[in-house]
Amino acid sequence: MLSFVAGALLVAAALAAIRWWLTRVDTIGRPRPFPVFSVTGLALLGGGLFVPVLRHAQLEHRLDSVASVLVGAPVTVHCQSLGKELVDVGPELGFVRYGANGVPEHSTLIKREACSDLRGYLGSDHHHPSDAQVLAVHVLTHESMHMAGSTDEAQAECFAVQRDAQTARLMGASSADAFRLARTYWLTVYPRMPDGYKSADCGPGGAMDRRSADAPWLGPAPG
Ligand SMILES: [Zn+2]
Repeated sequence: MLSFVAGALLVAAALAAIRWWLTRVDTIGRPRPFPVFSVTGLALLGGGLFVPVLRHAQLEHRLDSVASVLVGAPVTVHCQSLGKELVDVGPELGFVRYGANGVPEHSTLIKREACSDLRGYLGSDHHHPSDAQVLAVHVLTHESMHMAGSTDEAQAECFAVQRDAQTARLMGASSADAFRLARTYWLTVYPRMPDGYKSADCGPGGAMDRRSADAPWLGPAPG
């Protein structure tokens, strides 16, 4: 929607300039002044509106590359737009649609607020992520586990807690900061997840333990 308005303003600026060019002398041969205010005004407004559109596309592109590494295949991350947020009533922070065959698609929608927290995390020094940023990084990992084929919430969640550190590193965190983020999620958010998302098999030696060096149950508690 925003890109449409921005494009329309730029087209209007171009049309005003073309119109001046076609009628640059009046009927008695006097030169008509260039409509500098309307052309530059429309162009600046249109160009200005393109800035958030470009920032949105840039963020999605960055998140695509992170999720594609996690999934091991090219996937697409869509960040919810403001218009869609206004009509959205779902509580979930991310979403992967399943195809008719029950196989998750290689595309995810991340809610607007979580995307803005991911942007904040990308632009930070990664030392002290907010609770919302920790959650947003995990949402990206969790949805990536669905895109990689997990259709069970408890399994996607457990695989995700073992990959959160990798997601954080892919977003620019040092190994120590990344591990601390994964550990924070595991200790503070995972225990509070609804039953369908938790499993007794998720832990050291459990059936869902992937023996990853990034498992959040390894190592010291966060300092
Ligand atoms: Zn899920």
